[in-house]
Amino acid sequence: MSETRQNFEFVGKNTGEEIDSAKKYLQDLESFAMEKTNGELEKTEQDITMIRLADQLVANFLKEINIPYEHMDPEHIHVLNEGGLKKIIPNLHNSSGTYSVMSRRITVEKDASHSKGLFIQKLIHELVHQASKTKFAIDDDNENDNGKISPYRNGYVASNKSGEGVYFRNLNEAVTEKIAVQIYIRNKDRIKNVLNLQDNQIGVTYMSQIDFLDDLIGKMAELRHEPRIDTWKRMERAYFTGEMMHLRDIEKVLGKGGLRKYAEENLGADITP
Ligand SMILES: [Zn+2]
Repeated sequence: MSETRQNFEFVGKNTGEEIDSAKKYLQDLESFAMEKTNGELEKTEQDITMIRLADQLVANFLKEINIPYEHMDPEHIHVLNEGGLKKIIPNLHNSSGTYSVMSRRITVEKDASHSKGLFIQKLIHELVHQASKTKFAIDDDNENDNGKISPYRNGYVASNKSGEGVYFRNLNEAVTEKIAVQIYIRNKDRIKNVLNLQDNQIGVTYMSQIDFLDDLIGKMAELRHEPRIDTWKRMERAYFTGEMMHLRDIEKVLGKGGLRKYAEENLGADITP
């Protein structure tokens, strides 16, 4: 069995004992999530090569910007045929990959044509999610399925302490996909060589969210009189470090509550965990 996550962050005031038992709970959940799921495909040697490559590319990207990364072995990643996710999570909309913050499980579908290019892009997207800033909450007043533990932050997704009310999911998906596309483009030749790719077309998901994000970056750059790339690099870094000072800039350009309004309006159409 491969290693589970070692580093955890919790919000609020918790005793050492509470933190130790929460850590143990999350590590057990992660070990359990490495076991096979319903309808899971046996990973081919090529799948394993793709998983290891995607993990390495995400690790390299983070090393360049000095962000720690905990590697994901192939055991953390489950492969399904197209449509397989919907059988497990019926209310999932248009999604062919998921990442669970609690169990660190990644599930990725192979599309009907078994495109290697698309598959590795999805892997990179989900691995970027799992590398983003993650914090958990331990809440004595709210017991849920996971006892007192709930995800509190993952990238730009923030929950209240009881794990309800998820905000900024659309912004989070846009930032995730923008980073994933950057990693893919930067390593296109390497990916092509290792996978012997003919079909390395880049399919960008979350198009409307990325358009919105690009527009937002333009407005924020204007506000600060800085190049757009500087604004983007700050947003990108904050996704991994959790420094959310620039959310105030977002509020300024969108108006009070603008981002939340955007998140709520678009929910439903494009939810991807
Ligand atoms: Zn996603």
